[in-house]
Amino acid sequence: MGLHGNSMNIRDFIIIMFNLPQERIEKLDTHMSDGTFVAHLQLWSTHPTCELCGGETVSKGFYPYHFKNLDTNGIPTEIHWNRRRYKCKECGCSFAEDNLFTPEGFNVSYPLLDSLIKEFRNVETTIKNVANRYHVSPTSVSLYLDSFLIAPQQPLPENLGIDEKHSSMAKYKGKYLCVFVDNNDRKLVEIFPNRSKSHLTRELEKRSKEDLNRVKYVTIDMWKPYKDISQKFFKTAIVSVDNFHVVKEICQCFTKLRVNLMKQQPHESSSYYLLKHWHWLLEKEKVNLDNEPKYNQHFKAKLNHRQLYFRLLNISPTLNKAYNLKELYRHFNETATEADAEERFYALKNEFVKANIPEYEPVITMFNNWGPEIINSFKRPYNNRKQSNAFTENINGKLNILITVSNGISNFERFRSRALFALNPGIMYSIKSRLTSKKREGKPRGEYKKADKLSISDDNSKNLTDKEDK
Ligand SMILES: [Zn+2]
Repeated sequence: MGLHGNSMNIRDFIIIMFNLPQERIEKLDTHMSDGTFVAHLQLWSTHPTCELCGGETVSKGFYPYHFKNLDTNGIPTEIHWNRRRYKCKECGCSFAEDNLFTPEGFNVSYPLLDSLIKEFRNVETTIKNVANRYHVSPTSVSLYLDSFLIAPQQPLPENLGIDEKHSSMAKYKGKYLCVFVDNNDRKLVEIFPNRSKSHLTRELEKRSKEDLNRVKYVTIDMWKPYKDISQKFFKTAIVSVDNFHVVKEICQCFTKLRVNLMKQQPHESSSYYLLKHWHWLLEKEKVNLDNEPKYNQHFKAKLNHRQLYFRLLNISPTLNKAYNLKELYRHFNETATEADAEERFYALKNEFVKANIPEYEPVITMFNNWGPEIINSFKRPYNNRKQSNAFTENINGKLNILITVSNGISNFERFRSRALFALNPGIMYSIKSRLTSKKREGKPRGEYKKADKLSISDDNSKNLTDKEDK
């Protein structure tokens, strides 16, 4: 929010920002002080009845209540509110004027908190930047996040993607976080601080049967515990492995073979030269082989990619065979259908076995361990797409950014709330008059109310929810 042109004066601005009726303002003066725009505000007495006994009250003096508001035209802004004190004529108790501006005891306004929290819909936002932008301390920003961003357990999706992320925030001696994603709605569902079978079992045991039974498809990478927990908890679900990881494994084995072969060649040889400098012609996914020939220093001739490619494949029959198998798999991966995947997969597996290439032994092991799950990945239950985690790459990319900005300075709980807030449009925030710290992990969460001896009416803790999110 900002001032729109010069037509709006500060009075209008405050009226709109705090939803304050014009006639409630008794005094409003503004001045600049040390680069800060200060608004002095006083409201008329509303002659409220006593909160304790319902008796009549009288206005009895003021006390200063200062709070920060959003910048005004880029200038830090403070509101110095002369807050009224009322005294009951009947029982003699005293209490403060209703606070329409801030959660009780806070020195920042609702609009500021609202705007500050919304910054965290963006994963690139850092606590430090927000602290600078809103002229509050990083500690306060952390406290607001811990208090207002609450991410309750989300229902499991029908089409679940399970993945992991390397992070220092992982717990229980693990190095990876485990991520649950809704592959249909492309949103983050949950993050666990550990990817072990025992941890995931404990977490999933907390879920209801109804919730667990909602899962119809699960796509995982080739991490055995994911298969085990899927079979245990998602009893009727069809488990697929993400074919990206299958192709990646084959490509890595091929590269290993290529490097092994290269090391056996004399350094001055053409084979070494080709394997060292032109290997990418065999390894990159899409290469234009028919480019304009260019003069090649080594061969002292004009050559295009296709000529170099053939020279590479001529280096060794094993390399040639391994390359063909890799490309066959890639072709299978691109063209297989639910109907022919099984037959083609086992035929291809046979080819790999027959070739008897030591570097491909891990591939054969993978085929043995994950055959049914590889075949399942060719099913297309939703939007005519193969089962894959690739469609939620965007979430993965954003999680990686968030991990980078969070590692070392954040804890898992805060990271989880932030991630869900940014990557699940269903997660709201609510600004309450209680602060919660997630700083001390392992101990019970310290919840405390800002000390304030005055009575607090519930109206002060109005809830703000984010309705602007697309
Ligand atoms: Zn009273």
